[in-house]
Amino acid sequence: MELRPEEKAWFEAEGEKLAFKGTPYYLALASESEALRRQVVPRSAELEFLDSESPDPLSEEIHSPLPRMVHRYRNRIALLLTDSCALHCRHCFRRSFTGKNHRNLTTSECEQVIDYVNSHPEVQEILITGGDPLTLSTGYLRDILGRFRGGLTNQNIIFRMATRVPAVLPDRIDQELLDLLKENHPLWMVIQFNHPDELTHDSRSALKRIREAGIPMVNQSVLLSGINDDSDILAALFQQLLAEGVKPYYLFQGDLARGTSHFRAPLERGWKIMDELRLKVSGLALPTYAVDLPGGGGKIPLSRSLLVEEREEGYVFKNSEESKELYIYPREDR
Ligand code: SF4
Repeated sequence: MELRPEEKAWFEAEGEKLAFKGTPYYLALASESEALRRQVVPRSAELEFLDSESPDPLSEEIHSPLPRMVHRYRNRIALLLTDSCALHCRHCFRRSFTGKNHRNLTTSECEQVIDYVNSHPEVQEILITGGDPLTLSTGYLRDILGRFRGGLTNQNIIFRMATRVPAVLPDRIDQELLDLLKENHPLWMVIQFNHPDELTHDSRSALKRIREAGIPMVNQSVLLSGINDDSDILAALFQQLLAEGVKPYYLFQGDLARGTSHFRAPLERGWKIMDELRLKVSGLALPTYAVDLPGGGGKIPLSRSLLVEEREEGYVFKNSEESKELYIYPREDR
């Protein structure tokens, strides 16, 4: 792939950066698709940090009672098993953790999490994330899942495996992995496809293998300026995902991660796209447009009923109908 000047400038620049990482599979597709290229090849725009951006845009650190465990919502925890991913998405919101050569979750940390969950019976779901947990060996995943199933008092706890692997490294979805995931029912796969060009013969057959193993799947897309901020593109993506047995779950407004402002579409564009999508796809194919409010406000549907007012500096939201706290999502018109 011949680099363009703005891509070359990123590789030549010094400073804090999320390393470049791609899979041969995805890079081959990216050489033919501008939408995929922008998701994997860094550009100099990533070197621009805005005051409104943060290394920890979701305030995960203050909600981490144990190392690598985030407990922000009452009934679920997120577990950061590894910082490794198959590919580094240039829009990654966890970029200050991703790809920084941290060790994987240790056995003793896993035991601490089990004790924590057993003493917090309100926790009903464990989100297994990272990084990308499917970059770990099947043996390691078997050990971790086995420890949970063996040690948790609540035997009905639901696992959610968050992964980009079906879109970027579909061959990883092999029979050994599927057998393990199947044994750990109830388990959902939360995948990330952002553009119809990611739905290739190979990724579709990975989705088919998951589907035929009986593992339910939902998709979380990120609204990405210049990539998928168009209702025709998203309608095609969601319709095709639905046909593959994947429910479009969330369309996320970009988080305020440092160096990602060039990916964020203005909220007005997101609202307009959702209005158009409602006319183009069924309710089943329609995800919820959502944002993680800056300042630890948590995830909310971007419904106008939670919008309190518009100010020059941004949109003022509350995070529930009853809430008295207000959170500002900045206005970044472009
Ligand atoms: S797979 Fe997830 S954690 Fe990894 S780079 Fe992409 S968005 Fe970030």
